[in-house]
Amino acid sequence: MPELLLCNHQESFAVSQLMRLFYGDSIRVEEQKLSVGSDDLKGFSLVEDLPDSARSGRQVIVKTRLGSFYLQRVVAAELKKREIGRQLYAAFVYETGISYPWGALTGIRPTVIASEYLNQGMPLHEVAEILTDEWYVSDRKATLCAETAQTEQRILKTIPDDSFLMYVGIPFCPGRCSYCSFITRDAPARADLLDAYVDAIIRETELFAGKNHLPVSSLYIGGGTPTSLSAEQLDRLLEGLFKHIRFLPAAEKTIEAGRPDTINRDKLKLLKKAGLTRICINPQTFHDKSLIRIGRHHTVEDVFTAYQSAREIGFQHINMDLIAGLPGETVQDVRASVEQALKLEPESLTVHTLTLKRSAGLFDAERPDESGLPLRPDVGQMLDETHVQLTRSGYKPYYLYRQKRSAGGFENVGYARPGYESIYNVGMMSDRRSVIGIGSGSASKNACNRAVDRLTNPREIKTYLERYEELAIRKRQLFQLTEA
Ligand code: SF4
Repeated sequence: MPELLLCNHQESFAVSQLMRLFYGDSIRVEEQKLSVGSDDLKGFSLVEDLPDSARSGRQVIVKTRLGSFYLQRVVAAELKKREIGRQLYAAFVYETGISYPWGALTGIRPTVIASEYLNQGMPLHEVAEILTDEWYVSDRKATLCAETAQTEQRILKTIPDDSFLMYVGIPFCPGRCSYCSFITRDAPARADLLDAYVDAIIRETELFAGKNHLPVSSLYIGGGTPTSLSAEQLDRLLEGLFKHIRFLPAAEKTIEAGRPDTINRDKLKLLKKAGLTRICINPQTFHDKSLIRIGRHHTVEDVFTAYQSAREIGFQHINMDLIAGLPGETVQDVRASVEQALKLEPESLTVHTLTLKRSAGLFDAERPDESGLPLRPDVGQMLDETHVQLTRSGYKPYYLYRQKRSAGGFENVGYARPGYESIYNVGMMSDRRSVIGIGSGSASKNACNRAVDRLTNPREIKTYLERYEELAIRKRQLFQLTEA
């Protein structure tokens, strides 16, 4: 049975995340001992710890059947977790013969380390080399990572330090996609809640903002699908919100209109009139059969219609999302979807890797073994080809993240034509700008301190509706606002 004994550190969470990638989900943690699987699985086994005197000044981080693993370099205390992960990754590769394109960069923000090297003045090609040599990242992903980190840094500089990003969560959709793991509610079935929810959002914003007139550089209304609200509800929401927000000049204002079946010309007109600058219309795939398979109640034709209407009504920044790895889709299918998206010429395009969590309807069908291995061996090829198609067409990667437990450790990448990068996406992912989160499940972060302080609203809508006033007050404390 693969079994590890941790020595001289408490990083069992980080180590268990890494073990999951190689051995699947059923990790057992008992104090400093981690184990997984059954006795007949070959792998690491527990070895007695050495007395301090036997360590010769080197720090043992994990004992295994194959020997001890040491922190091989002197690292600051805050870097210890990272170094443990780096070395353990190499140990697991040696033991299992499995490796991943992102190597030891197993966190949700793989560009963090590349950014640190860039900040030290290291040239791009050297950053990519270090990622390959020391972090075991594949050549392609190392280049992607270094280039994206460089763009992220450039965009981040354009966001004033003391400005806020604002997220408003509308957790309703017109039915649930089979891969979805968000807490979203079926809007038609919960029509009774929608008005109360809109009222709560406006009131939470008012109570939080008070007379402080906080400068907002970017607003993101996400979900769910905010355009699940009726035109009247959207109108009321935007008017109520905007009364309490002080937008900086040229602030970015995004709304997710992800499901084309929630969009009509009346709604688009009022969104435009209210001043929204960026709209997301998400095909996910340009194949009707796949849309049926994943439970989205719209057709490819609906995407074209919604897109065309948004253009006619004057939206100059349309973002589209696609997903690589949908059930039944081949590399050729994904290539065709990207070609189709490119014909529409959206200003930005985000390519996601299908990630299934237990709460997703598709999980049982697609993940019978619960392993961390890729759902599909061809997902890597899909992402590589997509990258080539988009970069050849003038799009550049500008932000990059992974979802927890993403299958195969693959990434989600935001691409944009120069000048159309979303500052919300970059700022939020950086942890270096403060975020005000309004609505159920939204997270607020105060990034003014070196350590980021956070507050998350309850995900359950009923609990949120009962508590939003108290949460607004707590959020004021988070941001140390005094004047009400
Ligand atoms: S549109 Fe997005 S949030 Fe809504 S059900 Fe589908 S995946 Fe979930």
